[in-house]
Amino acid sequence: MSGTLFIIAAASGTGKTSLVKSLVAGDDRLGVSVSHTTRPARPGEVDGVNYHFTDRERFLAEVAEGQFLEHAEVFGNLYGTSKTWVEQQLAEDRDVILEIDWQGAQIVRELMPQALSVFILPPSLKALAERLNGRGTDSTEVIAHRLSEAIADISHYAEFDYLVINDDFATALADLQGIVRAARLSHRAQSQRQAELIRRLLSGA
Ligand code: 5GP
Repeated sequence: MSGTLFIIAAASGTGKTSLVKSLVAGDDRLGVSVSHTTRPARPGEVDGVNYHFTDRERFLAEVAEGQFLEHAEVFGNLYGTSKTWVEQQLAEDRDVILEIDWQGAQIVRELMPQALSVFILPPSLKALAERLNGRGTDSTEVIAHRLSEAIADISHYAEFDYLVINDDFATALADLQGIVRAARLSHRAQSQRQAELIRRLLSGA
């Protein structure tokens, strides 16, 4: 038995984390991988819940030990996905979401071609700029810089299997739920899960 691996990526400011949180909350067969990162925790973030916060030295030692399925440097910080956790979940027939950037997505696709990847797009640059200026206090230059980084991320959209637009939250959530549901009905997933039914149907008994 093996679950499905979903990769979900987006430019920052697209609302990906909130969408993934709601997606996982409503589905007890779906888990989200908690990444390791060298980035300092932001206010409200909890170690072991949002991320496993670590330092560069320890992170690089764990890379050398082969503990990560993938890792990448994003805006000067290292991020990595725990290999053991993901493999265990999939082996237990649980579906797993990796909330990672496009670089990590490229690596995981190479390693696990059966993974399904989703890229979430903002409805407009105006909406994205507003979200990137969340506190409303950032300078025009800072926002322009974040926007150009976001556009560079978005340029990778065509590498993904699915594109979801986060204009209306409920619609985007329903779209993600639809992707997960369709994956569970795929030939690969169902022929494993329904092996006994298929055997009985074909036996004619
Ligand atoms: P943030 O620091 O804002 O939480 O995340 C910055 C970026 O790093 C986001 O695009 C996020 O999806 C990505 N990211 C988070 N965890 C991982 C990971 O384990 N691997 C990779 N490759 N990217 C990650």
